Amino acid sequence: MTRSLSIFGATGSVGSSTLDLVRRDRDAWDVKVLTANSSAAELAALAQEFGAELAVVADEAHLPALRDALSGSSIEAAGGRDALCEAATRPADMSVAAIVGCAGLGPVMAAIEQGSSVALANKEALVSAGEVMTAAVERTGATLLPVDSEHNAIFQCLQGGAVEDVRWITLTASGGPLRTWSPAELAKATPQQAIAHPNWDMGAKISVDSATMFNKGLELIEAHHLFPVGLDRIRIVVHPQSVIHSMVEYRDGSTLAQLGPSDMKVPIASCLAWPERMETGCEPLDLPAIGSLTFEHPDEQRFPATRLAREAAEAGGAAPGVLNAANEVAVAAFLDGKIGFTRIAVLVEDALNRFAPPAPRSLAEVLCVDEEARAVAASMIETA
Ligand code: NAD
Ligand code: MG
Repeated sequence: MTRSLSIFGATGSVGSSTLDLVRRDRDAWDVKVLTANSSAAELAALAQEFGAELAVVADEAHLPALRDALSGSSIEAAGGRDALCEAATRPADMSVAAIVGCAGLGPVMAAIEQGSSVALANKEALVSAGEVMTAAVERTGATLLPVDSEHNAIFQCLQGGAVEDVRWITLTASGGPLRTWSPAELAKATPQQAIAHPNWDMGAKISVDSATMFNKGLELIEAHHLFPVGLDRIRIVVHPQSVIHSMVEYRDGSTLAQLGPSDMKVPIASCLAWPERMETGCEPLDLPAIGSLTFEHPDEQRFPATRLAREAAEAGGAAPGVLNAANEVAVAAFLDGKIGFTRIAVLVEDALNRFAPPAPRSLAEVLCVDEEARAVAASMIETA
């Protein structure tokens, strides 16, 4: 049976892994929409390879290049943020949300409104929108499948279990490339060092988030929305080998864990095929070659991000959106060489202290909080 598929952020790391899986079984999928931010030539080539119906660049300045590259084909081209959201209203059995940042929220919400299946990699969208998104999922009957490897692991470990029987959800964290660095070394970490992740090959933003531990902070908030066991039952354990992707401990003392290679194709495939299974072509896990699995407590002195995220989640309302927006601005400034590595968390904490708007109740209000929090964070960078 052929299923229709749209991928938002098709040229990125998660988008490419998704398309690799589609290549394995072309007849299973009818590709509808593919999107990118600005890489028009790459997007056009993918749209042609997969016979997409529509290709969209979020940055409208690249629409002429996309049109040129698609001229002579029957593939529609569109550009701009509204076009991105409109593309998400086109019916698709499965939409993969693989845009990075709150920029992906509009299309995610539009896809949820269709009431079909949404495979969510774009954690920033859920962190920013929180209850606005979970309420939309409930109202529309959409199926939200977690692509993030930890949440996909938890989702699998919860199959057949009751949320009331959960004692702990344990999110594992690799600790990132700077896990063992001293505070003095961290202060001098360069973008190149921060994005050199030991286990995962990912986009630049999430790689920096892994190094600061904001990735785990965002994932804590993400887990809190996806698995309603209560924040105090979600904990973080550093597991440098990234073999166990997360765990669920039940009240009888049984802990279920999901293990797998550090390859996003595994959780993506779990979403694409759910509730069935599909081949991924990934190497089987070779546990004797890995040898040992180790675990540590997170060090919130050197990496304050998980504390900040927990506090924002406890505060609720607009706080997680402010945390996310300030982090996005700070990460971009760090990658641009404007601020040092350890300033990222300082800036996020300052933004949370300075800007505490009321809880957003609609998508428009969430986007408004995001925009204002970005302006607050940006002004803090300029005046530093
Ligand atoms: P990436 O930077 O490799 O790709 C991002 C994609 O989004 C690209 O197609 C890009 O063109 C598009 N994009 C970027 N900015 C945009 C904007 N402003 N508007 C519209 N489109 C835009 O990122 P990634 O590593 O694939 O991550 C994507 C999302 O998945 C992130 O939210 C990340 O946290 C999450 N995620 C990624 C991984 C991973 O292994 N890469 C794992 C878990 C979760
Ligand atoms: Mg993850």
